Amino acid sequence: MNTSTSGATSGARYQCPGCGYVYDEQKGDEHEGFAPGTPWAQVPEDWACADCAVRDKADFVKLDDGAAG
Ligand SMILES: [Zn+2]
Repeated sequence: MNTSTSGATSGARYQCPGCGYVYDEQKGDEHEGFAPGTPWAQVPEDWACADCAVRDKADFVKLDDGAAG
């Protein structure tokens, strides 16, 4: 049986409050070594922003698409 990841990727996006860089789970960031579909949870806690390298993962703000609600 081929069990795929239940709950798949939410496709959530997270934005750097410093420079505005957005990490998109569906796109990942191949330049940073994150393949498309890499969930935010798999990004290392000590990862720094790919753009400004000043902000860490913990500083990122989850973007709300506003689709629901
Ligand atoms: Zn940044």
